[in-house]
Amino acid sequence: MSISLRKHAAMFLAATFTVGSMATFGAAALDQPTAVLSSTLNHSVGTVLTSAEISNAQQAMAKAKASALKAQQDAAKKAQEEAAKKAEVAKKAAEEAAKKEAEIKAAATQTAYNQLVASAATARPVAYSTTYLASDAIKANATALGNYKLTFYDPCVECNGNNLALTATGTTLTEGRTIAVDPSVIPLGSRVFIEGYGVFIAEDTGGAIKGNKIDIAVSTHERANELGVQYANVYLLK
Ligand SMILES: [Zn+2]
Repeated sequence: MSISLRKHAAMFLAATFTVGSMATFGAAALDQPTAVLSSTLNHSVGTVLTSAEISNAQQAMAKAKASALKAQQDAAKKAQEEAAKKAEVAKKAAEEAAKKEAEIKAAATQTAYNQLVASAATARPVAYSTTYLASDAIKANATALGNYKLTFYDPCVECNGNNLALTATGTTLTEGRTIAVDPSVIPLGSRVFIEGYGVFIAEDTGGAIKGNKIDIAVSTHERANELGVQYANVYLLK
């Protein structure tokens, strides 16, 4: 075989390995001793190659292998980067949605609170009810004053000192609206939410009503006795 023909055969081998024969000889071929590889290659193409030519073919194969490996690594890296980018976009979208939901909830809470404050404390029978548990709107907006001792009184002379049903602020003592407070703790005129009992107006005072005590007005002495003494969380509505 002429030198150019040999060279051609070696190039052919290298090219074959580069483009298609990696599966046939594979990466394992690179690890074989040159003599064994030479025999394998010579058998494969039906010719005889020098060890230099085999070495060239090996180098070409190694180069092809490295290049394939790099392409694989590049593709993996790119896929990883794209996945990370996608995850970042999804995370941002989730954060945006959560933020919007929180804003809607906050607005609804604010609206509910505004309605509560705007609603006048009106005449109604005073009784404990779970409908008057402190809502998120109250917890988020009102000033928590702590746990108070609740007593009940009515316009009789025994309870009120006079039976004119007049409060300290000159209003008519009204069940469902009037409470007596310590004005140094709760300013007169304040709207007060008593958990379990609803919204009242601080419009009366009492000699025994000091600190964390509230006297809730009811219509009769009998009802005041029935309601007895209770404890509840109290909020000052702003
Ligand atoms: Zn009474």
